Amino acid sequence: MQTVSDNKVVTMHYTLRDDAGETIDSSQGHEPLEYLHGAGNIVPGLEKALAGRAVGDKLTVRVEAAEGYGERDERGVQRVARKQLPPDMPLKPGIQLGARGPDGQMVPVWLKAVEGDQVVLDFNHPLAGATLHFEVELVGLREATLEELSHGHAHGAHGHHH
Ligand code: ZN
Repeated sequence: MQTVSDNKVVTMHYTLRDDAGETIDSSQGHEPLEYLHGAGNIVPGLEKALAGRAVGDKLTVRVEAAEGYGERDERGVQRVARKQLPPDMPLKPGIQLGARGPDGQMVPVWLKAVEGDQVVLDFNHPLAGATLHFEVELVGLREATLEELSHGHAHGAHGHHH
């Protein structure tokens, strides 16, 4: 039987809950999620738990923050003057922005709050520090195509999306 290993494309339905049991994200009612195993497309703790599994397997996986979206780092919270952001940008708490990192690469940053003429930004992922509770059902498994391997992600049943 084929089982999950590096360079395979896994299709799964999942529900992610927090410690309180609140649903944070779910594929139920949507297309299942496809990812390329071994490429870091999903959080490390879940990727490890899926290795060796087969289609039809259902599992409940508890992922600690270190193996999820990382621990929170309060140095990642920074205040900038509102005028440093584009004037037409909607400043809604929770939205994700892009910032230029030290090496010129784009890094994600989340808008936490607007306080007067200052904007509080958070470089921590909103789920940093959180224990993640996944319920997963494996619904598909196949070899990745060469194109998927060279891109480092799955391309899905509907062709190439970027
Ligand atoms: Zn691609």
